[in-house]
Amino acid sequence: MRSDKIIVSGATILPMTEPECSGSASDGGAKDGDAQKYFTGSVALEGGRIAIVARDGCAEGEQRLAEFRVKGDFREIDGRGRLLMPGLVNTHTHVAMTLMRNLADDIELMEWLHERVWPFESRLGAEEIAWGAKLGIAEMLLGGTTTFVDMYWHEAAIARVARDMGIRAVLCPSFLDGERMAEFERDLPETIAVADGCDRLSVRIAPHAPYTCSEENLRRAIGLAKKYGVGAHTHISETLDEQRIVRERYGCTPTEHLRNVGLFELPTIAAHCVHVTGGDMDILREFGVTAVHNPQSNMKIASGAAPVAAMLSRGVNLAIGTDGACSNNDLDMWDEMRTASFLAKHTAADPASMPAYEILKMATVGGARAIGRDGELGVVAEGALADLIMLDLEKPHLCPRHDLVAALVYSAKSTDVERVFVAGRPVVENDRVIGLDLPELMAEVEATVGRVKQAI
Ligand SMILES: [Zn+2]
Repeated sequence: MRSDKIIVSGATILPMTEPECSGSASDGGAKDGDAQKYFTGSVALEGGRIAIVARDGCAEGEQRLAEFRVKGDFREIDGRGRLLMPGLVNTHTHVAMTLMRNLADDIELMEWLHERVWPFESRLGAEEIAWGAKLGIAEMLLGGTTTFVDMYWHEAAIARVARDMGIRAVLCPSFLDGERMAEFERDLPETIAVADGCDRLSVRIAPHAPYTCSEENLRRAIGLAKKYGVGAHTHISETLDEQRIVRERYGCTPTEHLRNVGLFELPTIAAHCVHVTGGDMDILREFGVTAVHNPQSNMKIASGAAPVAAMLSRGVNLAIGTDGACSNNDLDMWDEMRTASFLAKHTAADPASMPAYEILKMATVGGARAIGRDGELGVVAEGALADLIMLDLEKPHLCPRHDLVAALVYSAKSTDVERVFVAGRPVVENDRVIGLDLPELMAEVEATVGRVKQAI
């Protein structure tokens, strides 16, 4: 068997942690503040984890790297001119909705749902969803997303695709009132069975939203989650309509309602949180609920702008998600990060709002904390899981680099991602997903979409 030992040497490393060892921090044009955030050095991977992070000029790290080299049987990757950083966590998506990319644009939300999305979705079975997932996972891996949190139907099928493609995923079988509930009750144990056979996968329940799931169904699903020992993932306060419906029905906000039915007794990830009140934010913080910001989806569907700066100042854990490709219309986390920062600045009329490093934290450490892997994912640190990405910095739009952190959020593109490692295994090399015939996959997706459209 080929060795799983890899050394990436001479790279610029952005660890998303506090510096531990003082060494040289030489990357042309680094400002004093940034020099603390990144450094040049080497990283050794072994057994799916990061074995050594050796900063250039740090004698202790260099010594251990030399000892690692002496043992031999490793592959070396030249990191010069490259940035090594944690893989991105897309903390909210519906990956199979790639099948509906550009199907429903520039129309009202209700028309979007009732006349375009739901008729199409009603024709999707496990096979079609698997093709959509395969396309979406390819897109995410190529753009440096190493973990995604997914909410959909037939999650067991998506789990199998994620397992086979080498990405890390949290699969969340979804339900809403009606026939989807029975489907959910079949999908949940099946998804758990697939995840049990792969340490990159985990499962959560996904109530669609507080206005589409009855109290009875919510309590039933919470009971199942407790039985299986899994968390939750839901949409909260996406639109003003939702806010109104829940207030009319239960006399409280969607966040208060979900707390009252006991959802937050489970580790919970809440997408959108656009119309949350100050009291809601305190509840999210108190119960350790992560708010996932989906700025492009919220802007495109005209739902509003989530108060991310206020949530941050109140201590709510924040992450970023693309939402589905039907309301975005891609799964590009770089685009999403830039939009998150711009939208926060625009709505607050404050250019200092949500600075670049804070946005990078949302897409890395915030996502890791959301899925309960704080310190294990979202960082380049010894002992952490080796989910890493490498960007080619030698691009015109990244030159000059007065500020590397700003360059990543405001100038970098998903196409700058050159290599991706998940659990120490290379999954993208030379801009290609290893072992995937992309033209063949895209042809299969086109054929699938053709069949679905004909059936409608
Ligand atoms: Zn969503």
